[in-house]
Formats: sequence, C-alpha cells, structure tokens
Amino acid sequence: MVLVLRKDITEEQIKHICEKLEKWGMKPVISRGVERTVIGAIGEEDVLRAQPLEAIPGVEQVMPILKPYKIASREYKKENTTISVNGVVIGGKKIIVGAGPCSVETEDLLIETAKAVKKAGATILRGGAFKPRTSPYSFQGLGEQGLKFLAQAKKITGLPIITEVMDARQIEVVVRYADIIQIGARNMQNFELLKEIGKTKTPVILKRGMMSTVEEFLMSAEYILSQGNLAVMLCERGIRTFERATRNTLDLSCVPVLKSLTHLPVIVDPSHGTGHWKWVNPLSRAAVAVGADGLLIEVHPSPEDAYSDGEQSLLPEKFSKMLEDLKPVASAVNREI
Ligand code: PEP
Ligand code: MN
Repeated sequence: MVLVLRKDITEEQIKHICEKLEKWGMKPVISRGVERTVIGAIGEEDVLRAQPLEAIPGVEQVMPILKPYKIASREYKKENTTISVNGVVIGGKKIIVGAGPCSVETEDLLIETAKAVKKAGATILRGGAFKPRTSPYSFQGLGEQGLKFLAQAKKITGLPIITEVMDARQIEVVVRYADIIQIGARNMQNFELLKEIGKTKTPVILKRGMMSTVEEFLMSAEYILSQGNLAVMLCERGIRTFERATRNTLDLSCVPVLKSLTHLPVIVDPSHGTGHWKWVNPLSRAAVAVGADGLLIEVHPSPEDAYSDGEQSLLPEKFSKMLEDLKPVASAVNREI
C-alpha cells in the first residue's frame, strides 16, 4: 500500500502515520520527493485495507498495490483455467455455447428445444427452474419439477445442464440435477449465497450484476473461490446505463479486461445483454471476436408464447444460422466453435 501525503504535511504527522502503520504490523518506508512525500507500507495489505487510512491527518491518497481479489487474479495463476463438465471443456480453444429457454416450461417444449440446440451445435442446455422475476405476479418457474424436466432433456440429448440457484435453501436440490449452477445478475452480491455455493463442488457460472464494476464482479468470484470451489466462470450479461434502445448495455470491453485480470473463463450472454433477438447474432460475433470463451443464448421454438424473455429468444433456425455465422469469426481469432 502506498500512502501519498499532503503537501503541507508536518514531521509530527509523518511520525504519527508511521506509528499507526507499525501498530498494524506494517513497515513504513518513507520516500521524500521534491513535490511530495509518500510512505510505502510493507506487509499484509489486507490488514490495511480494513483501516480508514484517508482519515489520518496528512494522508491525501491511498493506493493499493495488490489486487483485492487473490485466487481470481492472473498473478495467482498465469494459465487460463479450464473447467470440464461432462466432457465439455470450458476455457480452452473451443468456444462453448449454452442454449435453451429462459424458463423451463413444459417437458415436451424443453426436449424439443434441447434437441434443436444440440443439432445446431450447442454443447450445454440452459433453462431456469427458479426464476428471478421483477414482478412477484410473473411466472416464478417450475421449481423441482423443472429440474426433473431438465434431467430428462439431458438423458435424451446428453447435454449437460446450466440452471439457476436463487437462494441457499435451493442449493441442495439444484446440485442434484445441475452440471453448472447459475448465479444470476441480481444475486451477484448475495455474499451468503456465494459462500454456500463455494462449499459445493458443482461448477458455477457467475453473472455480472447489472450495476457492478469489474472489480466487484471479481470480488464476488473470490467469495466462491475462497470457499474451495475453483470451477468458476464469469458471465457478462449487460449492465444498466442511460441507454434504453437495448435492454442493457452489453459491456464487451470487460471481456479483454477480465481476460487480462483473471484466469477464469469469460462467457457472454447477448440475450439479456441486448433484450432483443435481432441483436443476439451480431453481438455474439462481437463477443467471439473480443475473446469470449463461451456464449449463453436464449432459444425458444415459439418465442411469442414464451413464459419469460420471448423478445430476446432466438428461433432454433436463427440460432443454427448464428452458429454458422460464428465459425469464420472464431477461426479469425484462432478459436473453434
Ligand atoms: C436468465 O439467465 O434467464 C437470467 C435471469 O439472467 P440474469 O440473471 O443475467 O438476468
Ligand atoms: Mn432470461
């Protein structure tokens, strides 16, 4: 940690700061420049992070040196993390595609969708059984019945399943069915849930909160990793900005930023990111071009009848065409799809 001191700092104040740092177990190293004096505090940075350093008289600015997240950082692990789920490797050369309806509706519809997305080239089936809806009067998901339908679709197609957990009380039932647990945008900072998920061994896809910074996103991943579950992938799904032409603003700039800061796989969800099926194909191409390790796409055989997110769901044939369109983009960036 580096403490930049005020121009008018007194020797008395410098002495006081050094005493405080020593009290916290740090070794203060004073550097007197022409313009400014700075103090480098050598020691456990986490200890200092908890202190109100800028409240000490004479301290103008505090600059951390290490990242606040540790296990998630590239410094901790240089090589990309790969996560293996039922033979599907996430974070390798092949870009993975998870596709399916927003919500699990009927068994027949889910199986029809699962077969269609598999035929088109998807490697994972998505579908929510516990749904985080803005209105308590909207469809809330089928619960365990939905998980059973997902299991049936998996049995028929062989596709592993991604499905959401909204509350720690649902973990036990969801891990019995899910190959990958989804933590939705609204729960990205539900720290107790993150800690509980961290105690499981099931791979996790953590969606970025719609009002969260990249650093907060990585700190949430750190909550899961620090409990021992190292199979975490991050998913950019759009953030809320002033722009209303799209449902959210898909922050594709975070993809290369995340790839430089962390070794964890980065997935992009252009369905929630844009909110309209028309923009899913172009934004998927952009996501692949910018280095995403995977895509999460909502597909529905009859979007106009969907229980949730019909506007942003692709028809199976449009999804199939999209995967074709992605091939040259993937090969241009030395990836496969
Ligand atoms: C979803 O995947 O259907 C969903 C609710 O996603 P998000 O948490 O990103 O809104
Ligand atoms: Mn949805």
